[in-house]
Amino acid sequence: MQHTGTRLEIDLSALAHNYQYLKSLLQPETLFLSVIKANAYGHGIVPVAQKLQELGTDYFAVAYVEEGVELRDNGITKPILVLHPQKHTLETCIDRCLEPVIYSFPLLVAFSAFAKAKNQQSYPIHIEFNTGLNRIGIDPEELEQTIALIKDNNALKIRGLQTHLAASEDAAENDFTQTQLALFKEISDNFKKHFKYPIIHHTSNTSGALNFKEAHYNMVRCGIGLYGYGNDPEQDKHLIPVASLYSVISQVRSIEAGESVSYNRTFLATEPMKYAVIALGHGDGIARIYGHGHGAVMIHGKLAYTLGIICMDMFMVDVSLIDCKAGDEVKLFGKIHTASDFAEKANTISYELLTHMQHRLQRFYV
Ligand SMILES: *Cc1c(COP(=O)(O)O)cnc(C)c1O
Repeated sequence: MQHTGTRLEIDLSALAHNYQYLKSLLQPETLFLSVIKANAYGHGIVPVAQKLQELGTDYFAVAYVEEGVELRDNGITKPILVLHPQKHTLETCIDRCLEPVIYSFPLLVAFSAFAKAKNQQSYPIHIEFNTGLNRIGIDPEELEQTIALIKDNNALKIRGLQTHLAASEDAAENDFTQTQLALFKEISDNFKKHFKYPIIHHTSNTSGALNFKEAHYNMVRCGIGLYGYGNDPEQDKHLIPVASLYSVISQVRSIEAGESVSYNRTFLATEPMKYAVIALGHGDGIARIYGHGHGAVMIHGKLAYTLGIICMDMFMVDVSLIDCKAGDEVKLFGKIHTASDFAEKANTISYELLTHMQHRLQRFYV
């Protein structure tokens, strides 16, 4: 069936291609974790997870326990890492067999108590150390007390040891990344002294996996690469954007010099012009930062730039030089004119544009 109108098309064969490409960069024994937080970066968490499970991913990661519950409710049986679990959800975490990332000493204390109270034996946890991102993580100074607490508690077992790189996409920060990796190795050596069983070490997001082969360890955690973006034009060549956003022209209008377009009269015409109204707005995920010419859509292969403020359900683009009419298709981003290209004009990144894609947008899987 041919889908028309406003829609987000998700190409699952592109997802498969990206998965295979990223996997081809790994040693055969390195595990692959698919990051599908934030509704699989806007692509729809359940269909994307089901496809990746079928492709053979070893692990999934979400940010919050609720996202993991949705996966469990929809047939996902692979291990699920919860990157940022909250205290009030720890019980559900255990009930639904989700593996929490323990990112602070107080969280370790709390989870340890829960696991004991629920009579767990060797419940798998991942310990995250802060090595320089300075976001979440146990600090290296808390290493001893962390080890002591886990050693004394047979309700818990360390499944993973992780850190997160601050600038793996930025070659200019190579030295900083090396410092993070060296610190991680030190921490890992300490753990090895105290725990004789195998522990999965993981440090790399997509850019880490692409740029730092020495940082793959036993598993990589790829998000954006799966969806077709490598944070670098060279890397992008090997990946295929999975999502394409389409809409239609609702109306084509003309104005004279001195007339204005959109709320607060933010665009003022200095000459006669023709513009098109597009059936999408910030209520769908096209944020206001894309207004005032900081966004462009493709109409019949040509770029048309935004005029004035983006409204909730629609926005306007200049089509003075484009032959078009109501009902014509509009492409916002896709395999050509990608989400990166779209986001760049407003000084943001594909991650933000993709994760902003709202529930209201119909998603079609092809
Ligand atoms: C989101 C996230 C990832 C995935 O990052 P990408 O750049 O999308 O590959 C990996 N690890 C952690 C801890 C994350 O928060």
